[in-house]
Amino acid sequence: MKMNIFGYTLPKLRRSFESLGENPAKADIVFNGVYKNGARDFRGFGFAERVTEKLEETFAFDLPKVVERRESSDAAKLLLELSDGEFVETVLMRQRFGNCVCVSTQVGCNMGCKFCQSGQMKKRRDLNVEEIVGQVLALSGEFSCKIDGVSVMGIGEPFDSFQNTADFISIVSDDKGLAVGRRHVTVSTCGIVPKICEYADLPLPCSLAISLHAADDGLRSELMPINKKYPIADVLKAAEYYSNKTRHRVALEYIMLDGINDSDECARQLAEVIGGRDFYVNLIPYNSTDSEFRKSDTDRISRFCGVLKENGVIATKRREFGADLKAACGQLRSDHEKKF
Ligand code: SF4
Repeated sequence: MKMNIFGYTLPKLRRSFESLGENPAKADIVFNGVYKNGARDFRGFGFAERVTEKLEETFAFDLPKVVERRESSDAAKLLLELSDGEFVETVLMRQRFGNCVCVSTQVGCNMGCKFCQSGQMKKRRDLNVEEIVGQVLALSGEFSCKIDGVSVMGIGEPFDSFQNTADFISIVSDDKGLAVGRRHVTVSTCGIVPKICEYADLPLPCSLAISLHAADDGLRSELMPINKKYPIADVLKAAEYYSNKTRHRVALEYIMLDGINDSDECARQLAEVIGGRDFYVNLIPYNSTDSEFRKSDTDRISRFCGVLKENGVIATKRREFGADLKAACGQLRSDHEKKF
């Protein structure tokens, strides 16, 4: 069976070339050609025919199939079909700094966050590295655009599939790969404490976002069952370890849920648990799904942001992208599954 080349980090590709009896420098040429020049076969590299044939027998260039595409002025979304018939969604957001892709890492998710449509669909499997890389390539190919940022924030908990996530960020941030700046590659976790530390210890870690969504353990455990295993104090201690180790500021993601976690008191509590540490808070207007939750109104979000700032916390409100595209994770796939 051929191996999918999009699953290979550069070091892994070099090792593979060596085991084929080829000079590993050829792996650098191929990797660069695949990601920088869009090569989708081995014919344009000028290798001897016997080398080209050997590589063709070993590697395939398979990408997920685009099943559905939606586009608005500031966002685009693809529904992709994988080789085993599973579906995965990926989103392109046109940010001020450039095009940012949000990728999924699993089919479904076991974390069970109450406000998340994907959390209602149990994990069916992890995506392999080529399927995660394939989302980025499918979007850049479909919309003919350069990718300037990558968020690992789609369906799934990336640290529940740690090695695949680590290989993925290695491929997208490699100078010979997609060369996305490390500060523009963000992995978002619901707070798997040991994995946050492992991420901090990677040779070249990228940015980190933590889905916090509440500053009180009781409320957070109701919204996010993972909090029973890893409570807020432990999560923030791990975040502090990451920020000390990497010198990257950690983003705390906070979905604003009407009447649930959006009071002035909640904002003061949040400032208190942050306790002057070098984190910033990203307030996210909830993208209403079929769930029981509603999004906080704009004035409430501004007021919440103001209270955080009065208490010395750096806070921003995230722009809303593509609500009309059903951009919340899981929504497009869920619609598709209802149709078929
Ligand atoms: S918010 Fe993220 S971690 Fe939580 S259930 Fe949804 S996909 Fe999983």
